[in-house]
Amino acid sequence: MSDDCIFCSIVDGEIPARTVHETGDVLAFLDANPLARGHTLVIPKPHAHRVGDLDAGLTDAVFDAVAALTPRVQDVVDADGANVGINDGAAAGQEVPHVHVHIVPRFEDDGGAPIHAVAGKRPDLSDDELDEIAAEIAD
Ligand code: AMP
Ligand code: ZN
Repeated sequence: MSDDCIFCSIVDGEIPARTVHETGDVLAFLDANPLARGHTLVIPKPHAHRVGDLDAGLTDAVFDAVAALTPRVQDVVDADGANVGINDGAAAGQEVPHVHVHIVPRFEDDGGAPIHAVAGKRPDLSDDELDEIAAEIAD
């Protein structure tokens, strides 16, 4: 629990939410300002700011819930697809500092864009630079 965290307040029942799924580790509820019908957020119950702050057991629990809920949400709102994503850090658009996975149902001709549209100007990287980045990540 973190003071001043709105999602911790939802976990604690201090703020209402339209809960759609709950386990000991995970809570899922409708986004209060939905980008689409059925826009759902999946969160770990313990407070964690960034994806990298999550304990291994929680990552499993969160992704299990995401995998179960994504097709279910799509069915309920009769969507054609969904974007599933996390804004990790303020630079990526994270506003609520408690890890949450967005499930955003998508509809043919909804005027939206693929997840590739989130980035800014694309870098022009050489093969050497790509090799170097891959090697450093793999370290
Ligand atoms: P992000 O920009 O990834 O941090 O997204 C935060 C999301 O939380 C936004 O889509 C908000 O609409 C949503 N949100 C904020 N407060 C609430 C709340 N009390 N209940 C449900 N969703 C919320
Ligand atoms: Zn929190």
